[in-house]
Amino acid sequence: MLKIALTLHTEKLDADNVWYQVEGMLSFLQKRHIPASFFCTAPTHAYYRNQPYFSETKWINRINQLAQQGHSIQQHTHFYAPDGTKTGDFTLMNVEKRLTEDYEWLQRQKFTPTGFVGGGWTINLDIVRFLARYNYRYDCSARTFSLDYLKDRDQALQIQQPCLFNFQDYALLELPTSTSVATFMKSLYPFSGAKIYVDVPHSEPYALIYLHDYDLLNPKFRIALRVALSWYYRRGCKFLTTDELADIVSRGELSYQVLDDSRC
Ligand SMILES: [Zn+2]
Repeated sequence: MLKIALTLHTEKLDADNVWYQVEGMLSFLQKRHIPASFFCTAPTHAYYRNQPYFSETKWINRINQLAQQGHSIQQHTHFYAPDGTKTGDFTLMNVEKRLTEDYEWLQRQKFTPTGFVGGGWTINLDIVRFLARYNYRYDCSARTFSLDYLKDRDQALQIQQPCLFNFQDYALLELPTSTSVATFMKSLYPFSGAKIYVDVPHSEPYALIYLHDYDLLNPKFRIALRVALSWYYRRGCKFLTTDELADIVSRGELSYQVLDDSRC
């Protein structure tokens, strides 16, 4: 049976209109006992703090509400330049600074992330090294699907099955994200050709769906998500957090490819 992990790139927790829709989503999930994984940005950067609705208190209260409802809290960092602009700065110094700022903020709120997804799907060896050094277990920044705007970018990874970055002194599991909500919805139509899952040799497949918290502002998007989740729920699919998915891999129930120094 297909395993399904629902992930939200959570970036606007303090915006009341976004939170109102997240709450609606939470009650939909609670009724069905569907756990989600919230990959949260932390309000550490000027980009967030300059928003007119910025409130760190709301951010903290709301992230705690997500956790209290049994959802998984993980890290999502955008590598915005230090000067407060939204443009990415992928120098080692900025990458480490941004990762550390967000990690430490989450820790101050008593959350220790073990999973990560990069803002704009950014992943490179500097990020992998940081994550491994800070004892994260897995990353979901790789995708099985292509995105036009990432075609010529170095710091992005498209792979078709899970892999382990395995170096002399560290290892990190890469669990690729496998579908957008639009493709998830299309998969309900026979002959659509929409593939939502990762084929894992000798194991059952899994689907890792992503959306942003602010995507829920769009009514068509909300309906599509609920219809597709309900359809797979009624078919008896197993919903799980990304932590649980990583556990399954660790127990050897889901195979993966090993990438060592020479292949990275
Ligand atoms: Zn993002």
